[in-house]
Amino acid sequence: MRFPVIIAAELRGLLEPDQLEGLDPTWLPGDQPVGKGDWVAIVPLLSRWVGGTELKHLPSLRIVANCAVGYDNVDLVAAEMRKVIVTNTPDVLTDATADLTWTLILACARRIVEGIDLVRTDQWRGWHPELLLGVELRGRTLGLFGAGRIGQAVGRRAVPFGARIIYAARTAKPDFERDTGAVRVDWSRLLSESDILSLHAPSTPETKGIINSETLGRMKAGAILVNTARGDLIREEALAIALEGGRLGAAGLDVYTEEPTIHARLRAAPRTVLLPHIGSATHDTRRRMASIAVANVQAVLRGQPPLTPVYR
Ligand code: NAP
Repeated sequence: MRFPVIIAAELRGLLEPDQLEGLDPTWLPGDQPVGKGDWVAIVPLLSRWVGGTELKHLPSLRIVANCAVGYDNVDLVAAEMRKVIVTNTPDVLTDATADLTWTLILACARRIVEGIDLVRTDQWRGWHPELLLGVELRGRTLGLFGAGRIGQAVGRRAVPFGARIIYAARTAKPDFERDTGAVRVDWSRLLSESDILSLHAPSTPETKGIINSETLGRMKAGAILVNTARGDLIREEALAIALEGGRLGAAGLDVYTEEPTIHARLRAAPRTVLLPHIGSATHDTRRRMASIAVANVQAVLRGQPPLTPVYR
């Protein structure tokens, strides 16, 4: 007997047939709702909300194997009430996302988008000593909001650039501090001392909207803001206003509140580098994410503990 499972159709090309052994998958495209049925597992993308209604429609469900490290698209309380296990895909996407964060930091600091635009629109008039002057990283302060797997990986990459590292997290990270010289500070100091502020905390009731007009006003004039965590950490209109007014140096974003829609004012704002949520988008990482998500399903259906549960 093969287990009936729902797997996001978008993952089909990333999975090998042997990984699906014993499963009878329904490949569900992202734009189609979850119907009622006897599926025992679901492997959703982060864009699919799995809440009370969806869980009610799936009375036989045993596991939600989210294909992402963030799990703000899953109602954990509703899942727990129904004794449904929730898993995510940590670790395998840390390096890819940290690399992309540095892509954004460097693109903002060295005004890469403006440079590309100049060349593409045939407006470049040759080398000029004051053309597109940017910010050097040596001696600058990189502030990390959240210093878990990705935040620390971003911090470790800052050492060869000669940046000073400060971070805010709920708990101290002694190994990270020892290896990088990072200093733990409170939120207020993180805001006021960072030349580059990079967000690496999950979306939770405490972190939603943490970057808003008030906190933007406490950041250093000319600072760079980078977000590869979750879009709703930032109030997008407030960020657009800070960029329009020239207070903020630049913003590098990979994630947005209402993906794929980007607040019109933010999309039009100056000095932004806007990417379409590609933090973990490498061939290797995406295969590993799909593979871990399905391995969690296989483990739970065999009666074994999940590999990467959200709650241990
Ligand atoms: P993680 O290891 O769980 O790290 C999260 C960090 O945030 C931890 O340091 C945690 O503090 C801190 N934190 C949580 N709540 C906080 C609060 N209220 N105040 C201050 N710090 C707080 O997660 P991760 O693997 O690094 O991933 C981070 C986030 O990146 C994910 O949640 C996901 O949303 C996002 N992400 C995005 C992409 C993308 O494609 N752009 C890819 C991967 C991940 P403690 O350590 O003290 O608990």
